Amino acid sequence: MAQLSDDCFAFGGPLLSVEAAEALIAARIPPLAGEESLPLLAALGRVLARDIRAPRPLPPFFNAAVDGYAFRHADLAPGERSFLGHDGRVAAGQAAGHPLRPGTAARIFTGAPMPPGADTVVMQEDAAAETAGLWVPPGLQPGANARPAGEDVAEGALALPSGRRLRVPEIALAAALGLAVLPVVPRVRVGVFSTGDELAAPGMPLGPAQTYDSNRFALLALLARLPVEATDLGILPDEAGATAAALRAAAGSHDLLLTSGGVSTGEEDHVRAAIEQGGRLVFWRLAVKPGRPAAMGVLPKAGGNFDQGGTPVVGLPGNPVAAIVTFLHLARPLVLRLAGGTAEPLARFPARAEFGYRKKAGRREYVRVRLEAGAPLPAARKFGREGAALLTSLTESDAFVELPEDMVAVAPGDTVQVLPFAALF
Ligand code: AMP
Ligand code: MG
Repeated sequence: MAQLSDDCFAFGGPLLSVEAAEALIAARIPPLAGEESLPLLAALGRVLARDIRAPRPLPPFFNAAVDGYAFRHADLAPGERSFLGHDGRVAAGQAAGHPLRPGTAARIFTGAPMPPGADTVVMQEDAAAETAGLWVPPGLQPGANARPAGEDVAEGALALPSGRRLRVPEIALAAALGLAVLPVVPRVRVGVFSTGDELAAPGMPLGPAQTYDSNRFALLALLARLPVEATDLGILPDEAGATAAALRAAAGSHDLLLTSGGVSTGEEDHVRAAIEQGGRLVFWRLAVKPGRPAAMGVLPKAGGNFDQGGTPVVGLPGNPVAAIVTFLHLARPLVLRLAGGTAEPLARFPARAEFGYRKKAGRREYVRVRLEAGAPLPAARKFGREGAALLTSLTESDAFVELPEDMVAVAPGDTVQVLPFAALF
């Protein structure tokens, strides 16, 4: 597979739209090489490394979809109720038994194989059984209440494509096909740094001008939902040499590096300079609010040059809400791309704005809202305050309203697009 080199981002500019950044990632980041075989449950959340074709049909044989009586549809009197004699009984797990005699029905239970000759099942609630036989009401279609072999997946058909993320339904389908292990892409090794002399680790005493580091925990928690092996690389001081050295060292043993803070233009912001000096800076401002200062670049894996490939680095902003928003647009697609996954766009749904809002054209904005049931659309009620540092604006909200680049105002009653937190984190 292709290796990430220093000219992989031959285009890009200092200020990039979210869309351009996502397109850049999709086009320029090669998936990690290699695969591993994992038992089904260990494969949950990982990305499939190869196409899975059905080794057998699903369901494996023609079977009853309900408890009832199986018969040949051609034996029914058209348009009126029909009387069929009794002929045998098949429970789930039993062999299908003898071919059905003309004009009869077999007692059958859900999941049991259809007796040879039978093609239709009447539900036990709809049949009137008597000692000599049963009455079948008119109106049943041929094949009703029966499941043909291969109805879900035909033998040899593509059941799960390479690049698919293995969620609960994919694990269930693999199990139903009889597969106990799956070939998956290796976990993406992601190193996470915080930066800032003012930061203290939770659990430690807080100095007079210190604040607790929350971004490292937010980012590691966000990564926990992705096919990642995350490493907590601690807090970097606001010092150029230490920042550059730590990033350079970590690039060798990771597939992706994430930092937060230190990407603005202040003299205490050293992440951008470290990327610029040690490798290649692709962009350093993302046209998104909260967010804006957000750098992306690539550092050599080893030896100060790109002979052995490069490691992408994302410098997320320091403000906690901005770090989370930009993670979703930069780090998440990068991880999924490195993991060989197919694009998984964030799900958006329409809602009715219960607020007025003005914004600048040219950048995408995320407004934190609470969703309430409403007709015809749910109502999106804005959280009172907007600061990029206010974590309670997230804890007290349950969705982002996404305002596109070209929009300049929202009025109450407007239809807006929302991203529910439940789908994000
Ligand atoms: P910076 O971009 O480094 O100037 O950071 C912007 C703001 O985010 C400052 O108020 C920082 O204290 C704050 N900040 C930076 N990193 C973190 C972090 N890991 N946890 C919480 N706040 C942070
Ligand atoms: Mg800082």
